[in-house]
Amino acid sequence: MKLNELTAHEILDLIKQKKTSSGEVCQAVLDQIERSDENVKAFVRLNDQASATAKEANGPVPIPIAIKDNICITDQEVTCSSRILKNFRPPYDATVIEKLKKSGAVILGHTNMDEFAFGSSTENSCYGPTHNPWKLDCVPGGSSGGSTAAVAANEAIWALGSDTGGSIRQPAAFCGVVGLKPTYGLVSRYGLIAFASSLDQIGPITKDVTDSALLLNIISGTDSRDSTSAPFTVPDYTKALVNEVKNIKIGIPMEYFIEGIDPEVKQLIVNAIEMLEKSGAIFEEVSLPHTEYAVATYYIIATAEASSNLARFDGVEYGLRCHPEKMRKNPLVDMYEETRAVGFGKEVKRRIMLGTYSLSSGYYDDYYLRGLKVRTLIKNDFDKVFENYDAIITPTAPTTAFKIGEKANDPLSMYLSDIYTISANLAGIPAISIPCGFSKDGLPVGLQIMAKPFNEEMLLRIAYSFEQSTDWHKRKVRL
Ligand code: GLN
Repeated sequence: MKLNELTAHEILDLIKQKKTSSGEVCQAVLDQIERSDENVKAFVRLNDQASATAKEANGPVPIPIAIKDNICITDQEVTCSSRILKNFRPPYDATVIEKLKKSGAVILGHTNMDEFAFGSSTENSCYGPTHNPWKLDCVPGGSSGGSTAAVAANEAIWALGSDTGGSIRQPAAFCGVVGLKPTYGLVSRYGLIAFASSLDQIGPITKDVTDSALLLNIISGTDSRDSTSAPFTVPDYTKALVNEVKNIKIGIPMEYFIEGIDPEVKQLIVNAIEMLEKSGAIFEEVSLPHTEYAVATYYIIATAEASSNLARFDGVEYGLRCHPEKMRKNPLVDMYEETRAVGFGKEVKRRIMLGTYSLSSGYYDDYYLRGLKVRTLIKNDFDKVFENYDAIITPTAPTTAFKIGEKANDPLSMYLSDIYTISANLAGIPAISIPCGFSKDGLPVGLQIMAKPFNEEMLLRIAYSFEQSTDWHKRKVRL
């Protein structure tokens, strides 16, 4: 196998045995980018220092990593794949980047995403769409589609994404890789350009579960620069990688297996459940009765927070500044309006309008406040199930990757592709998506596991045990 096709833990073993070097691995990855990124379009920007950093890397984990285009790296342009942030170069590193640099990581560059992480297909990007490495005419999922496609195409060993309603897990499922959304507060959001601050989390996108634990070890931990970061002592997640699920109690929420789920996806999830049952896990049907309100609640809360977070992009401090040809109101207001009209794409404008509406006086109580109340009911549903169960298993997405353009003019059907992932963000709990098979036409399917807050170890243990008895994660795309 080629170096760029290996996992990080395999590479670290080879480096330890002096069979390869960080420089060689980085070269293999850069060669792959050269070969296939013209078709995949995972990267929006490459770091021209990658090779030099790799040659000098002396930290414990000198692995090449791809970074979603909403995570700040000192002096590197970062745009959230939006015109409005063109040429914005932050003067600081996000906490996760600082931690990665300390570990010796080699940063390859920024990856494509839906503009401001608004989407499920990586089509809403000012750079154009990313393509699914398994089928180039399909979407990679979104919004972290660039990062998942890079890992699936072996253009990066692993990557970081962000997940507000499923943006790590859903593209991980579509691209056949492992994506983990940590508990809210486990990973610092300092330096992550905000979408919906009460939902956003950065997380690892990797080729297998062991790498997911390794990368989570690097990026998690309390941070005084993020007031929502939890005062939590982070364990060594690799210790959770034990192949043992005997007597672990897992709930299957009946609300997740209703109409709209692709029968092939459903069958592969049923097979996965049977496999874990054979290994000794105990499955029972459970109920999350407020599931039907999750998508509506999410789109009230997420758009409200987004409209407020995006108010800062007005042409004054960041990126783009535009002036209309003719004076319309006064020079300042004209500049704000022109900059935002030119800088934001269609989906961003739609969400700013929705969010501003539900936060406006007279509607606040009916929409935003009610959304918060339903969010609590959804969280209570999970708390109740977790009184008796160690984990919950569901599909990650109702379908496999769809064709590029297929849902572009139907925002509602696009919103529904996150129906299984959104609740974990509303409840703040950790969730992982792992490969559990392929459809007849060769597209990957993901299995989602959710657990109690700060019990990433349970996720990793179940995921690892499942992975040990399958080889879906070993299938490679050759591009
Ligand atoms: N697809 C969802 C949305 O469009 C989730 C996005 C995300 O997690 N960033 O909002």
